[in-house]
Amino acid sequence: MSDQPTFDGMPVKLFSCTPSRLDTWLDCPRKYRYTYIDTPRPPRGGPWAHASMGAAVHNALREWWTKPLEERTTQVGEVLLTKFWRTDGFKDDEQAQRSFVRAKAWITNYLKTVDVNDEPRGLERTVSATTETLSLSGRVDRIDERDGELVIVDYKTGRNAPEVDDVASSRALAIYAVGAARTMRMKCTKVELHHLPSETVVAYDHSPESLNRHIKRAESIAREVQAEALKPESDSNYRPNPSALCGYCDFARICPDASVEPAKPWAVIEKQEL
Ligand code: SF4
Repeated sequence: MSDQPTFDGMPVKLFSCTPSRLDTWLDCPRKYRYTYIDTPRPPRGGPWAHASMGAAVHNALREWWTKPLEERTTQVGEVLLTKFWRTDGFKDDEQAQRSFVRAKAWITNYLKTVDVNDEPRGLERTVSATTETLSLSGRVDRIDERDGELVIVDYKTGRNAPEVDDVASSRALAIYAVGAARTMRMKCTKVELHHLPSETVVAYDHSPESLNRHIKRAESIAREVQAEALKPESDSNYRPNPSALCGYCDFARICPDASVEPAKPWAVIEKQEL
């Protein structure tokens, strides 16, 4: 994908993007440049422990739903977590082990709440939709079918339990809903965050208007990105947006504008353990 603009008279080339690409631009245009524009790609920091933990949980839940009914047990969930567990980014073996025990409890408690007879319509499925100016796509953790409609399910393993506002205002979830409806040709307005640490499911049912507002906002962000690509090349392009989040930026080690030292790869896990 290129951010290259088109010329008058030529057909408009759709701007291909994911929710994460748009969010990266809003977080920090310089991070956007490092992530999507610069070649060769600047080196990123090493793996984050919380990302290792989240990936293992997501992978275990994905594979669990592919098992035959008789194998959809909490024990199999634990086996799958073990299969996908990685210790990349943890401070030491002790911290990794404590985190594994916590993740095991999340999976066990979560799987006790699901109906093993359900058959998700999609697992880590890529969905997409086009608008007049955008080609949007995203990968959804799980897509359920309930009462003749699709429901977007996104697993969360972070520290804070989400609120309804978080679900309603999530551009990613709205884009997934629009993409699922277009890709799978079935109504999809319901989106859910399943937060494993707090054992909460927070749901929101979008109206056509609220989905449209998210799409319009995505188009407006994309226009900002494309306008930046039109500027003459200069060091001031893709301005940095230093903030406390710089510590958790993958490029903090190489970015001269980082406002804080790079956080330790296990910093988020340490906070979770408090
Ligand atoms: S370290 Fe901060 S300023 Fe630099 S790219 Fe990352 S978020 Fe932007």
